[in-house]
Amino acid sequence: MDIWTVDALPSLGSTKPEFQLGVLGDPVEHSLSPRMQNAALAARGLPYRYERVHVSPSRLEEAFARLRELGFIGWNLTLPHKIAGLSLVDRLDPEAADLEAINTVLNHGGELIGFNTDGRGLQAALTEAFKIDLTKVRIAVLGAGGGAGHASARFLARLRPERLLLVNRTLAKMENLKNQLAGDPRITFWDFDQLERVFREADLIVNATSAGLAGGILDWEPDWLQADHRVFDMVYGREGDTPMVAWAKRKGVPAVDGRLMLLHQGAFAFEHWFGRPVPVQAMRDALR
Ligand code: NAP
Repeated sequence: MDIWTVDALPSLGSTKPEFQLGVLGDPVEHSLSPRMQNAALAARGLPYRYERVHVSPSRLEEAFARLRELGFIGWNLTLPHKIAGLSLVDRLDPEAADLEAINTVLNHGGELIGFNTDGRGLQAALTEAFKIDLTKVRIAVLGAGGGAGHASARFLARLRPERLLLVNRTLAKMENLKNQLAGDPRITFWDFDQLERVFREADLIVNATSAGLAGGILDWEPDWLQADHRVFDMVYGREGDTPMVAWAKRKGVPAVDGRLMLLHQGAFAFEHWFGRPVPVQAMRDALR
């Protein structure tokens, strides 16, 4: 089966015992995690499979219970489950508790432990892509009120960049962040009407909105982008550049999509499930 559902899970044990890992999302069709994780499993000689499971928000709790019952090794969460997943595990890794979102679950003998590898995955991807010292740049996060954006903002704030400009379409969704990060003069909050100024005041633009995923592109003026900007789009497509990456490249601006973050967060997740070594090269090749 290409994409599994919660209803199909009960029969798994007898029909597909090697299916022990997966990614839960809604939508989940776009996920390249199976390609990458199955390459890693093969490279380590582990007899398991990693699959996509379509789970709507109303069935997330049921999915966790089924996977625990079936003895799954672990799973990943993609949108929109990263915040809801927090309350469905037995224990939170301190980083996940701090970032207030989980993207990785480890089933440790029936005890579910929640981790967040997105923050470290983003840091590794930005550093690899742009060879920059993140403490010395002005970073703008678009979509800081969403699940990935919120966790990224919290994570980047801890790195203490020169400036951190947090932007969200719905300002009210950054209220939590405002309360948590208040008092640091380097961190400021903006809405999309102020994007032009945000671009002027930032060196690195990180898109954490799901706008690209929906096939759309944010409504901004091309001239806001300058040659010394760097663009990181957390969104990734199954084929080719995302609209945002294509747009930046047309302007001659270095830009990468979310595959690099997917790679690094996935490598950290694999390490939680199976320890080291993590076959990063096999995962990287699988994403090409
Ligand atoms: P989410 O919780 O649903 O958040 C969506 C965010 O996008 C919100 O901030 C929302 O703003 C904003 N948004 C949606 N449509 C918009 C539009 N037309 N204009 C402006 N803002 C818009 O989703 P998520 O879990 O944070 O994921 C966000 C994206 O990051 C997804 O594409 C996901 O695939 C990607 N991601 C990639 C990786 C990776 O490893 N590469 C990891 C994590 C996430 P409002 O608050 O105003 O609604």
